[in-house]
Amino acid sequence: MKKGLQTGNVRVGNLSIGGDSPVVIQSMTNTDTLDTEATAAQCRRLFDAGCEMVRITAPGMKEARNLENIKNRLVQQGYTGPLVADVHFLPEAALFTAGLVEKVRINPGNYCDRRTGKTDFTAAERLAERNRIRERIHPLLERCKENGTALRIGVNQGSISERMTALYGNTPEALVESAMEFIGICRSFDFHQMVISIKSSRVQTMDKAVRMLSGRMQEEDAAYPLHLGVTEAGNGEDARLMSAIGIGSLLADGIGNTIRVSLTESPENEIPAAKAILRAVEHLQALPEKERDCSCLRLEGKEISEQQKVNAAVHLGRLMLQGKKDGFEIKGEQKEAECKILLDNIMQAAGIKFHKTRFIACPSCGRTKYDIQKALAQVKARFPDYPNLTIAVMGCIVNGPGEMADADFGYIGCGNGKVNLYRKGNLAKAAVPEAQALAELEKLIAGL
Ligand code: SF4
Repeated sequence: MKKGLQTGNVRVGNLSIGGDSPVVIQSMTNTDTLDTEATAAQCRRLFDAGCEMVRITAPGMKEARNLENIKNRLVQQGYTGPLVADVHFLPEAALFTAGLVEKVRINPGNYCDRRTGKTDFTAAERLAERNRIRERIHPLLERCKENGTALRIGVNQGSISERMTALYGNTPEALVESAMEFIGICRSFDFHQMVISIKSSRVQTMDKAVRMLSGRMQEEDAAYPLHLGVTEAGNGEDARLMSAIGIGSLLADGIGNTIRVSLTESPENEIPAAKAILRAVEHLQALPEKERDCSCLRLEGKEISEQQKVNAAVHLGRLMLQGKKDGFEIKGEQKEAECKILLDNIMQAAGIKFHKTRFIACPSCGRTKYDIQKALAQVKARFPDYPNLTIAVMGCIVNGPGEMADADFGYIGCGNGKVNLYRKGNLAKAAVPEAQALAELEKLIAGL
């Protein structure tokens, strides 16, 4: 792959992210973090598949402490790839894991900001909040410095702080300002070992925000490595096409240093999907400029291979994100209908034309207390043909409601065989037995 935009270099254990380093592939476990054997086994499978860095959720202190057992187990078995602790709300867990693993991920909107329902902030209130964040994050930065631990600042559209939303709305600007505020605070403490991500389940938002952030960082001479991913992409071909467009378009333009393809499937499946995107970017970059910007693709062979689909998504999706709306064509020896379906699916994934229901689903993690993969398959099978609707299937009631806030309907398993159903971000039916959840969701969609 061609060399990307120059960024600083961040060391994460035995890996280097940014600078002249190749793009790093990462993933996240979805086992219970308290289950040492299952989590270590999944980490091993991920590393064996070519994953270079594995993230593990640490929602509380018990899980944070168990990362030590998981790490020790892996080292005993000869696996020394870096681990990342995913901490959302608990500064104590972040502090603890910063002395243990190679990188800690925090989400500014969850880690430091209080949710009060406020929609208006005076300048004095904004300053007070910023000072509170500085105080709260300072010990973590010091702990990271002492231990050579890297930090990922992971901003998600579903969890932007109320302060940022009040100023910028739920926009790419709010995502960028949220990231820039944190970068500024870290820099003011002379902390630079950070990787930044901005994620959204909407490819267009993610693309726009990451490009804006990359530009802002270059302008301010603060070019930290970027982690790319489309969040809540779901499963199957649709998720792979969305990720290919979101991640591939940026990489093709030299933006991005580490990637994760989030799938509501076994995490091990994320690695070949990520490798396919890297191959597709190399393929696109090798084309002469005129061909690269051509919106008509010709596919060789009698069947459309998975790699050809990803290549087509990166190639055409990038043009769609640049603003081109029509004139797209996919042709080849394959049946015309198959080429048309692929093009329709790429347009849907790029968010420029919808021909079927838009599903979003988180990849799940140690917080998930039900079989989300089965639930997603059932929801997709039952409600396939609502091009004007977005239906979310999420893994937990802690982060799920916020992360799916722009969905029309939501389905979240809460454990003990119960499901919460949401309409326009609000809880509509609580603790529905799983066996009745699809029928209840159907009633909600029908407006009954
Ligand atoms: S929304 Fe999904 S991925 Fe995010 S914390 Fe909850 S279960 Fe984990």
